Amino acid sequence: MSYKEPAPITGQHLNPFESMMSRFDIAAKKLGLDDSLYSVLKSPAKIVMVSLPVTMDNGDVKVFEGYRVIHNANLGPSKGGIRYSMDVTLDEVKALAAWMTWKCAVVGIPYGGGKGGIKCHPQSMSKGELERMTRAYTVAMVDVFGPEKDIPAPDMNTGQQEMAWIMDEYSKLKGYSSPAVVTGKPLVLGGSLGRVEATGRGVMVSARSAMAKMGLSPVGATCAVQGFGNVGSISAKLLATQGLKIVAISDVTGGYYDPNGINVEEAIAYKEGNKGTLEGFKAQKISNNDLLILDVDVLVPAAMEDQITAENANDIKAKLIVEGANGPTSWNADDILNTKGIMVVPDILANAGGVTVSYFEWVQNRLGYYWTEERVNRRADRTMKQAFETVYQAAQKHDCSWRIAAYIVAIDKVANTQKLRGVF
Ligand code: GLU
Repeated sequence: MSYKEPAPITGQHLNPFESMMSRFDIAAKKLGLDDSLYSVLKSPAKIVMVSLPVTMDNGDVKVFEGYRVIHNANLGPSKGGIRYSMDVTLDEVKALAAWMTWKCAVVGIPYGGGKGGIKCHPQSMSKGELERMTRAYTVAMVDVFGPEKDIPAPDMNTGQQEMAWIMDEYSKLKGYSSPAVVTGKPLVLGGSLGRVEATGRGVMVSARSAMAKMGLSPVGATCAVQGFGNVGSISAKLLATQGLKIVAISDVTGGYYDPNGINVEEAIAYKEGNKGTLEGFKAQKISNNDLLILDVDVLVPAAMEDQITAENANDIKAKLIVEGANGPTSWNADDILNTKGIMVVPDILANAGGVTVSYFEWVQNRLGYYWTEERVNRRADRTMKQAFETVYQAAQKHDCSWRIAAYIVAIDKVANTQKLRGVF
């Protein structure tokens, strides 16, 4: 299973938007996408940039930069998370918004793609400051968001609490309660059972599907997971329940390696009682890069963008990479991994379990009827398995990597809707 793909068209330096576009270009070429559709689909439909003045606890006013990018809304309202990080840039949000368009199309849910972000350092902000900033962002975006227009969700450094504030502020501005404007809410405010675990669960399901195709047995297979936030920790926990041996985990404080296997539940409890980090966890201390090049069967990068690059791809020993994060592999590593015969379940497929259950949450909000966790999980698992199979078949048909196949499936679908709906 090794193949060579044409060199990407974009420049050499790393930039998430270029990483996204280079795969888009390869897939578009393979699909024979015509030039006009190409130019429509590569451009975000809407970019909103706002300044958010927030009174800090000490009385000073600080102005934060906020973004929301709607990449495409052909298949339905745009959907995608909001991240709080100092790394937020317009280019990053543009790439993440486009990835959401492809992600929703790959798993076949009726959404377009969007993404938002605020450039801030949430770890050094108080709860009150975070609340005021989140509410200011919601006020600034009141004409962008909407259950039929654009539906935010959690992403890096945001979670149920931020979604509750967004739902509350939006509802106040509208004058009625509008739970379907945002997903990833707390259960009591109309959240869905299974949403917290959904992304990690999808990573586990797609890892299992890939392992079955590769003839790799999950029982005893070794696995390293980079990142121990919502996606990494739950992926690790659920992969362990499938018989995989998790030999390494990591977070911002570094990597933790134990060849005999890490007890993931114990690591989660440790982190919770340790101000949210793994610092001091009992295992051999390694770096985040050491973790990526460990001799394991399965590698799950679930931290952030551009972790696997042309610099370290040659040293990767895993047989299978399952991308829990968005964009963890930069485009210049793709060829190296492909040549080495390393299989990659790409982000737009592997981590799509989260947005799939977001869709179920939105459906339940609109119905006013709530599903059991068993029903949510069963439907999400089925969606992920079907999406994997569709991508697998496309890879066979087009003789390409699973990543390019996922883009082909997604672009083909969105391009067809564009053709049917027409262009102004
Ligand atoms: N932020 C998640 C993602 O990147 C979830 C998005 C959503 O549920 O809308 O897929």
